[in-house]
Amino acid sequence: MKKKSIWLEDKPKEMYPSITKDMNLDCLIIGGGITGLSILYQLKDENISVALVERNKICEGVTSKSTAKLNYLQGIVYSTIKKDVSMAFAKMYLKSQLEGIEIVKSIIAKENIDCNLEKVSSYLYGEAKDKLKIEEEYQFLKENNIKVEKENNTLKVFDTYVFHPVKYVRQLAKICHEKKQNIYENSLASNLKKETDGFSVTINNHKIMAKKVILACHYPFELFPFFLPIRTYIEKSYVMASKCQIKKEETFITTYPKIISKRYFDKYEIILKGSHNICNKLNSQKNFEKLTNDNNPEFLWSNEDIMTSDHMPFIGFIDRNLILATGYNTWGMATSAIAGVIIKDIILEKYNLYMEYFHPYRNISLAKIKQYPSNLLSNMKSFIWNKIYKKKKWYPENLKFSIKDGKSIAKYTIGEKEYIINTTCPHALCTLIFNEVEQTWDCPCHASKYDITGKCIKGPSVKDIAYKNN
Ligand SMILES: Cc1cc2nc3c(=O)[nH]c(=O)nc-3n(C[C@H](O)[C@H](O)[C@H](O)COP(=O)(O)OP(=O)(O)OC[C@H]3O[C@@H](n4cnc5c(N)ncnc54)[C@H](O)[C@@H]3O)c2cc1C
Repeated sequence: MKKKSIWLEDKPKEMYPSITKDMNLDCLIIGGGITGLSILYQLKDENISVALVERNKICEGVTSKSTAKLNYLQGIVYSTIKKDVSMAFAKMYLKSQLEGIEIVKSIIAKENIDCNLEKVSSYLYGEAKDKLKIEEEYQFLKENNIKVEKENNTLKVFDTYVFHPVKYVRQLAKICHEKKQNIYENSLASNLKKETDGFSVTINNHKIMAKKVILACHYPFELFPFFLPIRTYIEKSYVMASKCQIKKEETFITTYPKIISKRYFDKYEIILKGSHNICNKLNSQKNFEKLTNDNNPEFLWSNEDIMTSDHMPFIGFIDRNLILATGYNTWGMATSAIAGVIIKDIILEKYNLYMEYFHPYRNISLAKIKQYPSNLLSNMKSFIWNKIYKKKKWYPENLKFSIKDGKSIAKYTIGEKEYIINTTCPHALCTLIFNEVEQTWDCPCHASKYDITGKCIKGPSVKDIAYKNN
């Protein structure tokens, strides 16, 4: 069994340089996932200096671990937005998803991108208790001219798609690179600073100045303590791909909270199961076991996405000259395409209809604001609980904890090698959990990840945790 995403099976063909000098740009995009590349693609023909920087390799983040459905049937999301926010927001979110799908399709067709795009029918299954919710979602879709069928508690729609997300994003990067757009890998951005005419970051000890900086890095590396940790929570899910006998031209999803999502790719059935707030259910081995049961998957992985309290993404200014695109509520394939168009308009100072709806500082209803303390509390609970109970059995067997220089140190051997790491996440000082299945140290507060050597492989953290005596 491979403990990695099925989409990361092929090695990248293209390699991009890393930042080796100071720069002065009109626009800096931080993050080489589907969001960053969708933005870069939209800006490729504009007369402005743009660079995209990626801390690792292009498309090895959240996008590379998704189930990659291009689907507007997203549970009972529209009737929920209609009820919790307004009809206008629900309609706008549906419009964005339909348009996002069309944008991705048209880019694939125009650029002749080979990324296994397939048209499928999609089903939403509700339990008996969800009868009314399914009916409301059905009515909403019908009123908005979506071809939808209902049978008992099941909805079926038709114009939905699946694709290979990594092939798509790598191809976008190649196209942009051929258009002389600057793409840099192994270029970790940190130290974001407000300047008189824009923002600066430090990358590989070089100062990069830009009039506009776009945070397309999923969970931003700057803490923004009164923004993301309060307005969002992180949902973690477990995914497997197993060989199947019959490949269906269909996708499936069940309603919240016990989501099961299914699609097919090549000769594989891909199943997502066991989603939870990252602050809860800290035993990763157990969480994976619930997914696999008696199955013997060929690929097994976990992934996290950022959830907003009103189900709408955050796309727009977070500060003057600083733009954010995140909070896709596990539906980022179409939303990132829309983010590309919105952010292009922002950069070119054009009006875009979605701006007020997706603005990170939009008004959120009182009912939804009530969720903010609960987001913060679950973060704090995880922070405290995990500090007290960190010697639980889900750590490596031969692990020894000690305190050195006031730091909580873990020493362990895997195979022949001994590792010494600091078990506190440098981002917000949460205590890390060992993920035995993927052999990583995971942060249960903001989803940073470190490999067994202590190298930080996923943000928001920008620092390694390997312990050095001096
Ligand atoms: C289990 C699961 C299944 C999903 N399935 C679907 C689906 O079927 N359909 C759908 O529409 N959506 C799905 N999603 C949601 C979707 O995958 C995400 O919303 C989307 O991929 C986010 O893309 P991104 O580009 O913003 O983030 P990423 O792909 O994570 O890209 C961000 C990039 O920024 C880089 N970065 C971070 N910090 C820095 C830094 N300091 N300097 C430089 N680079 C940095 C990272 O290395 C990363 O490559 C799923 C999510 C999950 C968790």
